[in-house]
Amino acid sequence: MIQRSLRHVWHPCTQMKLHESQPPVPIARAEGVWLYDFEGKRYLDGISSWWVNLFGHNHPHIKAALLDQLDRLDHVMLAGFTHQPVVELSERLAALTGLGHAFYGSDGASATEIALKMSAHYWRNTGRPEKCRFIGLAGGYHGETVGALAVTDIAIFREAYAPLVRLAATVPSPDVRGALDGESAADVARRAAAGLQSWLAQHHAQTAALILEPMVQCAAGMAMYDASYLREARALCDRYEVHLIADEIATGFGRTGTMFAHQQAGIKPDFICLSKGLTGGTLPLSAVLTTDTVYDAFYDDDVARGFLHSHSYTGNPLACRAALATLELFVQTNVLARNAELAQLLDQAFAPLTRHPSVRNARRLGMIWAWDIDETASGAAPLPHFAHRYARHALAHGVVLRPIGNTLYAMPPYAMDAETAAHLAHGALAALEATLAEI
Ligand SMILES: *Cc1c(COP(=O)(O)O)cnc(C)c1O
Repeated sequence: MIQRSLRHVWHPCTQMKLHESQPPVPIARAEGVWLYDFEGKRYLDGISSWWVNLFGHNHPHIKAALLDQLDRLDHVMLAGFTHQPVVELSERLAALTGLGHAFYGSDGASATEIALKMSAHYWRNTGRPEKCRFIGLAGGYHGETVGALAVTDIAIFREAYAPLVRLAATVPSPDVRGALDGESAADVARRAAAGLQSWLAQHHAQTAALILEPMVQCAAGMAMYDASYLREARALCDRYEVHLIADEIATGFGRTGTMFAHQQAGIKPDFICLSKGLTGGTLPLSAVLTTDTVYDAFYDDDVARGFLHSHSYTGNPLACRAALATLELFVQTNVLARNAELAQLLDQAFAPLTRHPSVRNARRLGMIWAWDIDETASGAAPLPHFAHRYARHALAHGVVLRPIGNTLYAMPPYAMDAETAAHLAHGALAALEATLAEI
């Protein structure tokens, strides 16, 4: 199976040559927080399969909804047609966010593209076509299609494609790790907001939107920041007439402790991008939600003033049904309250790792834990390929963890318990010790 895979499958986010020393792991099935290989060895899915899974794999409620939907309607195009799952999902998302119009895509990056295009097109439709530039935060990640790369400030994903990309401006990140001597998280947020302000003061007339990941810049290495930044950013966007796009693709659906991360600041964005957890980790689906004001600017007799964007599978009924089943799980049990208790349990389990002498900046928000590893703490030289080595040791200990650079993190499904928490925490620490032992 591995040989066949390597011959014909080109894996994402992977230098394929690295598979010579570390082949991909064939997975036969998954259940709850566990992935099983063909020999029956199991791995705890400590990063929720790239942050998409919420309630565990093979969840009976989502599975039943999908099977039922398969009997009714597999797919119909959403141009000229509509169907029950997409209507109900749009109603529910409107109720949850206060943004009443939902446009669908398939992946997170397509949601970013949709939000950017909608924002610029809004300004064009309202007589200000010069407002067509974007701003993002330093270290921001919004996907890797050519349009999304314009606002993704991560060099390794962007460098090779720089000539293709119409770069957005980057303003300072409020990442608390950037605190100068004696600065609090709120001080860092204030300083970053001042950077945003001076940029907007000069360029607002050409700027359509600011896009950001609320509360946690996940791909930047789980960079967490103070909610006051979002309040200041909202106020500045209002003052300078610039849209605020909240990219909740990774942070949505309870991951940061509230249903959506921006709610911790009590603000309302002009656009919200959703994907990843939207279907509980079962099928690709993304959505962009926006306001009546934006929607109304497209509503016209003139076809060209409409938002003519489309994807073949826009609003796929199976994916929408999986999303509805996922949202039903939030209604059936008090997921956020249960997660708050679960997080205490995991905090305790992670305590030995958090206190490890090579660990810096231990942090948590909701169901995201992160630690920066200083592998030179004992005076040694930096270890090349830290993340890759660590992931290999973690697998050997039965846990899936993929550090980002030297940032180790856990983002487990919400279906953890005391036993799986202990397994995850033990594996994370053992893998750290095994990796450091290679120095
Ligand atoms: C993962 C992610 C995306 C991109 O989603 P894809 O489905 O991988 O295209 C965009 N924004 C954020 C914040 C993400 O975490």
